[in-house]
Amino acid sequence: MDCLFCKIAAGEIPSKKVYEDDLCYAFYDIDPQAPTHFLVIPKAHIASVSEVTPENQAVVGHIFSVIAQITKDLGLESYRVVSNIGEQAGQSVFHLHFHVLSGRDMTWPPG
Ligand code: 5GP
Repeated sequence: MDCLFCKIAAGEIPSKKVYEDDLCYAFYDIDPQAPTHFLVIPKAHIASVSEVTPENQAVVGHIFSVIAQITKDLGLESYRVVSNIGEQAGQSVFHLHFHVLSGRDMTWPPG
């Protein structure tokens, strides 16, 4: 499969690593939208939240526990976690990822 984030998770395309374990990989976004902006992805390919099933859901809970730990380690007390699903919502890479953004005032609702 020709998937950018599968290649990043496998180390075939370089990225600035934040965290890694057997199930997930976290790395800084190439086009940051906040002073701190990193992505957390499952190593196994899942196209988006729409493809989460009873069989593969465990990695999502794991990713959220990893986000809680990384943000503590980075000293981030306030942050936003976002996942875009589908092109109209802004998804451009079709491998499940959670954006973690911090370090500036956020607006609501998001644009
Ligand atoms: P989406 O638009 O799918 O919600 O988010 C995809 C994110 O991946 C974007 O914020 C974009 O800047 C980031 N991105 C795209 N290509 C690369 C890349 O090659 N390396 C890194 N580190 N981030 C990327």
